[in-house]
Amino acid sequence: MAFIDLQAVTKRYNQVPVVNHLDLTIDRGEMFALLGPNGAGKSTTIKMLTTLAVPDEGKITIGGADVVKQAQQVKRSIGVVLQQTSIDLDRTVWENMEFHGRMHHMPQAERQAAIERCLDYVELKDRLNDRTRNLSGGMKRRLQIARALMHNPQVLFLDEPTVGLDPQTRRRLWEIIRDLKQQGMTILLTTHYMEEAETLCDRVGILDSGKLIEMGTLSELRQKHGLAVVIVQNEEDQKLDYKFFPTMAEAHAYLEHQSSSKSVMLRESNLEDIFVELTGRKLD
Ligand code: ADP
Repeated sequence: MAFIDLQAVTKRYNQVPVVNHLDLTIDRGEMFALLGPNGAGKSTTIKMLTTLAVPDEGKITIGGADVVKQAQQVKRSIGVVLQQTSIDLDRTVWENMEFHGRMHHMPQAERQAAIERCLDYVELKDRLNDRTRNLSGGMKRRLQIARALMHNPQVLFLDEPTVGLDPQTRRRLWEIIRDLKQQGMTILLTTHYMEEAETLCDRVGILDSGKLIEMGTLSELRQKHGLAVVIVQNEEDQKLDYKFFPTMAEAHAYLEHQSSSKSVMLRESNLEDIFVELTGRKLD
């Protein structure tokens, strides 16, 4: 059964729809990645899901509660790690957690227990009295996750959870995110790292100009667009041309008929190939 449900959701800024009749359902316990080029409408969608922006049209429910009409109930059931709602750098780890607990009207004893439990979970308990400014990038992100978990949410929204982090730190965060999923958390994340979506998520949706242009599991997407990809370098302008084939055998057969002088590569397709194929090779 759908736990997160968006029906024909539209959001306009200056009369221009940036999310355009979006239909999307996410099941309880599912991990879903929302992908898309810059400006596709990912953040706006997350803002609406987390009650920070109001849809102009359509309806969003989380666990049956309407995000506009039952915003307080929704806020109690969600944990949010957004780029913009970052931590207060001048305060300590404990103060940041304490403030969040108070915002959620958690009684003192429950608040203290939750702070300990969540900081222990992300391995930051020994940093309790450190000024947040002095934490590393990965620690700051772990603190944001600990804070988002304090009030026992059922859904977690993670907006680019590992952006700017080194590979080791990214993998540590992946372990935490995976563990949360194993505990039954429903998770929606946005990312620009295709590998992250491939590794973590059950399904992905690709948003472009406010519309979902593709959705499914990685295996469904690869079946649909082709399991094999041939990359040919154009001799004149050195540009790369990607060609999809249903199977590796068909890609091999195609290559046999190509002139051997061209630089070509044959490999299995991945999410990044499909993403670039669908959203175009435009640069920022
Ligand atoms: P993404 O997260 O996929 O990069 P956004 O949801 O941030 O995309 O933005 C989608 C579009 O909406 C962009 O063209 C952006 O400029 C515009 N937009 C976002 N927020 C506002 C706002 N508060 N006022 C006006 N335009 C906005």
